[in-house]
Amino acid sequence: MTPKYKSYNIHALESIPYLQKMDKAIIEDIKIVGEIYPFKTNNYVLDNLIDWERGIDDPIFRLNFPHRGMLTEEHYDKLKWGRDRLAKDEFAELVDQIRMTLNPHPAGQTSFNVPFENGVRLEGLQHKYRNTVLYFPSHSQTCHAYCTFCFRWPQFVSNAELKFQSKELDSLIRYLNYNPQITDVLLTGGDPMVMGPQILSRYIDALIGVKSLRNIRIGTKSLTFWPFKFTAEEGHQEVLQILRKVTDSGKHLAIMSHFNHPAELKSDVVIDAIKNLRATGAEIRTQAPLLRTINNKSEIWSEMWERQVQLGLIPYYMFLPRDTGAQHHFAEDLRTALHIYKNAIQKLSGICRTAKGPVMSALHGKVELLDCVDDVFYLRYLQHRDPGMAYKVFKGREAIDNPKWFSDLTTVDKYEERYFEEVKRVEVGV
Ligand code: SF4
Repeated sequence: MTPKYKSYNIHALESIPYLQKMDKAIIEDIKIVGEIYPFKTNNYVLDNLIDWERGIDDPIFRLNFPHRGMLTEEHYDKLKWGRDRLAKDEFAELVDQIRMTLNPHPAGQTSFNVPFENGVRLEGLQHKYRNTVLYFPSHSQTCHAYCTFCFRWPQFVSNAELKFQSKELDSLIRYLNYNPQITDVLLTGGDPMVMGPQILSRYIDALIGVKSLRNIRIGTKSLTFWPFKFTAEEGHQEVLQILRKVTDSGKHLAIMSHFNHPAELKSDVVIDAIKNLRATGAEIRTQAPLLRTINNKSEIWSEMWERQVQLGLIPYYMFLPRDTGAQHHFAEDLRTALHIYKNAIQKLSGICRTAKGPVMSALHGKVELLDCVDDVFYLRYLQHRDPGMAYKVFKGREAIDNPKWFSDLTTVDKYEERYFEEVKRVEVGV
């Protein structure tokens, strides 16, 4: 039977049957925090992933439903006060003001990474690393449900100034053809797997036609939020055929799948979806941030990585939550993160130890935290705008107590200052 997708936004909370048994104060918190952050859930998540016996302590509830700790007390009180007293447009202004304090575009996404064509910004493209371009199709700027910790949260709120997206498939293809050093394109969003077969095939066919491209990556959380996409939804066979075309063309298809917790890997539907995806010749690599209240225990990660390998997936990254949105709520400090990563990976056999971590996607590039000895942090860039800076170990020390992010560290040795310097604007273009 074809499954019916039913989604719920912040205005439909009251119609979610499971919430009716919950404390009214919790619903009130979801509404207030939902003024700032996007909220969407669906019937698959509600019926299959959340353990309602655990209520607000359930990790999947925490990753899908906003909760009070995501706002500072000051912001929470202002919103609560303003909602009851301000006119609609004044309240909207307050919401915008608060959003702008939450660093909506971390790591220079809109200022450093957007390439140019004849002096014109190519909106919806990001070219940070030499070999890889990120592309944000306008058709995929939503997801089957939203994650509370999402670093792309501004993509899903109504303020148009906070979004980046592209309708210009032709510009992307031109840009790729002018830059044959680019071997990888990542389709991202939102979630590109919200696209139906007709639109998806437009993007995939165009990318297959670019000779210099070797790897097509698709970032998605659909295996968690709507695995029917690959098993039973209308059009799923066509979607699988389109993906098969990539591997038949001789290019590598990498599904960059987002899993935060082993609970996402248990349903029969997700297991079937993984089998069908792998049958297209795709490799599925997995990544997720380490998050307080959701997955901040080493046993959770070792169980998740072990299960992923058993299902034929390749663990790829343990990230740290970026310096945006509710980072203050979700981020562990760097020492705790390192401890959780090491404890998790040490429990596993060699073939399960493929996940790199803990990793921070910072302004300069992807910084891996290798170790901490006597208050000295050992780090290296896995990726850097300047490829010559990658894979060299350097040292850092705390610039503030309990550092949680790369910018909370500073150099130990003067000759290593360049690893911490603000990058100059990197002009990329044709
Ligand atoms: S699925 Fe990905 S893009 Fe969508 S809300 Fe979750 S983390 Fe963000």
